[in-house]
Amino acid sequence: MSFAVVISGAGPNGLMLACELALAGVRPLVLERRTEPSGEQRANGIVGQVVRLLDRRGLYARLTGGAVRPAPVPQFVFGAFPLPLRRLAENPVHAVLVPQREIEKMLAERAAELGVTIRGGHELVGLEQKDDHVLVDVEGPDGGYQIEARYLVGADGGRSMTRKLAGIGFPGVTTDTTISRTAHVTVPAEFRDAATGGLRVPGYGVIPPFLHHRTERGLIAYAPFPDGRTLLSVNTQDVPAPAQDLTIAELQAAFTHVTGGAEVQLTEPTGDGPHLLRRLHGGNTRLAERYRDGRILLVGDAAHVHSAMGGPGLNLGLQDAVNLGWKLAATVHGWAPRGLLDTYETERRPAGDRVTMHTLAQRALVGPGPEVTALRTLFGELLEQPSVLQLIASLIAGSDIEYDMGAGPSAGTGRFAPDPGPATRSGRPLLVDDTGALAGTVAPWRDRVDVVSAPVAGAPVMLVRPDNYVAWQPGDAGTLTDALTRWFGAPALT
Ligand SMILES: Cc1cc2nc3c(=O)[nH]c(=O)nc-3n(C[C@H](O)[C@H](O)[C@H](O)COP(=O)(O)OP(=O)(O)OC[C@H]3O[C@@H](n4cnc5c(N)ncnc54)[C@H](O)[C@@H]3O)c2cc1C
Repeated sequence: MSFAVVISGAGPNGLMLACELALAGVRPLVLERRTEPSGEQRANGIVGQVVRLLDRRGLYARLTGGAVRPAPVPQFVFGAFPLPLRRLAENPVHAVLVPQREIEKMLAERAAELGVTIRGGHELVGLEQKDDHVLVDVEGPDGGYQIEARYLVGADGGRSMTRKLAGIGFPGVTTDTTISRTAHVTVPAEFRDAATGGLRVPGYGVIPPFLHHRTERGLIAYAPFPDGRTLLSVNTQDVPAPAQDLTIAELQAAFTHVTGGAEVQLTEPTGDGPHLLRRLHGGNTRLAERYRDGRILLVGDAAHVHSAMGGPGLNLGLQDAVNLGWKLAATVHGWAPRGLLDTYETERRPAGDRVTMHTLAQRALVGPGPEVTALRTLFGELLEQPSVLQLIASLIAGSDIEYDMGAGPSAGTGRFAPDPGPATRSGRPLLVDDTGALAGTVAPWRDRVDVVSAPVAGAPVMLVRPDNYVAWQPGDAGTLTDALTRWFGAPALT
């Protein structure tokens, strides 16, 4: 059995990559060790500019039912500081509240529509890299077998077997001081603050919804979701965990500790569970030392793990997948310019580095103790500066990422294409040219590059890569021909 691309892992990032490859004409084989969708409650939403990217692919409407357009959120949170994003002239933080299982379901359906094969119950258990292929050992329901892949992508999560077997290091930080307890809870009406939607705690005050609430003894997150679920998460450093599984009473005791003695009456919800979701000790912040080793590549959590504070994971991982998809497909098709696949790591590893940096910084900002309180006073004063608020918003959205496109001083090249951007449902590169003047220049690339004549947000002419990054604009140091050759290979039709 031989495949151009094998993906290990059908989590959101493996599925997204599979869709991107299929759009670009390469149908990968996806191996997934689970036989059923995971029951684990993870992401509750997607935050950052990947929301706009999903919209360009037509996937945002599939997640939301299509009634609303993506829009920046007026408020968000960073290190338990509420961020008044509505004050910004340009607010880059888009978000959509949707459980991870819905995201995975939608992507699995999309992958199936695009003809991708997902083998559930098939686990990657070994690999051997050769000069022109990778031998992949798989354990399936009927026993072990071997497949040959021209490229293997590890999308198999934070404990990635692919990463380990490829010998790619995963340096970083493991902390073991914090215990995080999370459950779905039912809160009696008298504890719900109608005005803010927050948690009204007698003798303490209102804990606002969807914002981390830090005291010198710990952190509380209260999230009453529109679908009726109420999530409560409490982090402490000095409330030991009992031997038995998490209970509501234990969560309640941790809550009382963080608030310095205040109590709320919580019960376990009825209906489909599980409701007592997790008790986690410590956390990992790690970044793969390489995203590529020959014919083996890593995407998503396989390449980076970090705190889930503020939900940056899918913004990072799904954009890894979209960055890699077209480059890997071009390599498989044989038209990729030299070095194209290497730009996956040079572009995306710094993005991973930014996220590991800011999630560690957020952990520091929510830590216990008076020193952290002092640091927070200072950080809060800094946040009053519009430029600081803008910087933090860009960090959360990932819109501070600028890839090196060799453009010189021109603003915008190397950045995510501005809204309202061209729909890139096909996943093909686009030349936006409302002048028609560049038709002749692009003609030899028309087998790989589409041309649209609609103007885009004050920038009537731009070359947009499939991952929605601007690869060229008039005024750049190089010509359009340079940019087409650099990203999409030699001219084919002359
Ligand atoms: C509590 C929590 C809350 C979070 N909240 C958010 C949030 O609100 N927003 C956000 O953006 N992110 C959030 N995240 C992060 C997000 O869940 C992850 O970034 C995301 O799941 C990573 O997707 P992935 O596809 O890379 O890996 P995973 O989701 O881990 O998927 C990996 C897949 O690979 C399979 N697999 C593993 N090993 C093998 C093998 N050897 N062979 C075959 N298959 C294999 C696994 O079964 C799994 O299906 C949260 C994470 C946690 C833990």
